[in-house]
Amino acid sequence: MSKKRKEKKSVKAFLLLIGSELLDLQSEDTNGKFIIEKLKERNIDICGYEIIEDNLNIIKESLEKACKIADIVITSGGLGPTRDDLTREGLSQAFSSELVLNEEWFREIEERFRSRGRQMWDIDRKMAMVPKESRIIPNRFGTACGIYFDFEDKMLFSLPGVPSEFKDMTESFILKEIDRRFKVEEEKILKITFAGIGESDIQKVLDEIIEENGILKYSILPHSGVTEVKIVINNSHAESSDKIEKHLLKNLGKNIVSFKGESIVEVISEILKKNNYSLSVAESLTGGTISRKIVAVSGVSSFYKGSITAYSNEAKIELLGVPEDEIEEFGAVSENVALSMVRGARARFLTPCAISTTGIAGPTGETKDKPLGLVYIAVSKPGKERVFKHIFPFKRENVIEMASNYALYHLLQILRDEI
Ligand code: ATP
Repeated sequence: MSKKRKEKKSVKAFLLLIGSELLDLQSEDTNGKFIIEKLKERNIDICGYEIIEDNLNIIKESLEKACKIADIVITSGGLGPTRDDLTREGLSQAFSSELVLNEEWFREIEERFRSRGRQMWDIDRKMAMVPKESRIIPNRFGTACGIYFDFEDKMLFSLPGVPSEFKDMTESFILKEIDRRFKVEEEKILKITFAGIGESDIQKVLDEIIEENGILKYSILPHSGVTEVKIVINNSHAESSDKIEKHLLKNLGKNIVSFKGESIVEVISEILKKNNYSLSVAESLTGGTISRKIVAVSGVSSFYKGSITAYSNEAKIELLGVPEDEIEEFGAVSENVALSMVRGARARFLTPCAISTTGIAGPTGETKDKPLGLVYIAVSKPGKERVFKHIFPFKRENVIEMASNYALYHLLQILRDEI
């Protein structure tokens, strides 16, 4: 039965990988990964991905669940002739469709056995048994055919698990059927990088514009002070991306690092190169993390001179020239020392721009007026320097990560003259 091609806002697919060997980790699921790529190319959403054992009840229940929630269900494995191959029985029960011999495929496999000089046993007949209401999917390389159900505007495809057969049948049959049936509306994706703002603040501003702008879905992924937002817009709302950008700029402008999904270092890199500025870093609690983030981006050698990790007081004094009496009077974790460190980096590396960090990463080291997570960050550019105080009440590794990301963010702010 052929149905008309439909243009849909979103099409959901569920992948069911059947095989106890996948759960024993004897085989890796390459079939699911292969088809996910193909479906993503077609803008089809993956709403489920499940690996299950060769167990009739579980197969039946998973099939029923998948068919309820998805437009397209694809299964892999369990179509061979042996006792543990139970997918056809699962399909027969889930669709209340009795198994019958498909004469055409039976003759095909008889012929294949004959031409390969192999004896065909009774159990091999099983590979031509398919649910009455289904169609077969021919298998050019193996003897188990695939099974196709077309029901209530939905499609179910069951393929053998052997990767070469799975791949060939996907390309020669499944994708063609999907393309004939579904055309998913084109989407535009906006990738925005934020810094120095919590996810709920972003959520609040997004909530104001979701409905009128054809936003199909969005994700907000926070990583210690930096947040990546992905917004998927229906192409029929092409003008929306401008409106969304304007609204975000108006309300959260200072926290937007990039509208192109670039990282803070990539954006800093462009500004430094454009202005011919060089950069150095003096790190205490961040212990080289800022430097690692900078050198992870290619092309930084044109402006990045290096970093001094000055963890002890002696290192701060000797390597960065922080005055000893300043440490005695204000303590190593202080605004004054952060500023002296940034000046020290500038002087040692002869760079106009610099970043410094000093703080208490914990879990020990707090004092009466200096809590765990207290961090001072200083940043500078020609003619301007700023120092910031933060308290990051987290575990040691998160304090270090937050301090590093905020330090880069403050450098970006000073370079953009936002502070
Ligand atoms: P067969 O006719 O070989 O019995 P089948 O449909 O019953 O085919 P299985 O027996 O489940 O498939 O698996 C056949 C082979 O394919 C096994 O070597 C198995 O490890 C491998 N395989 C099964 N599922 C996957 C998968 N999702 N990804 C990669 N390989 C798989």
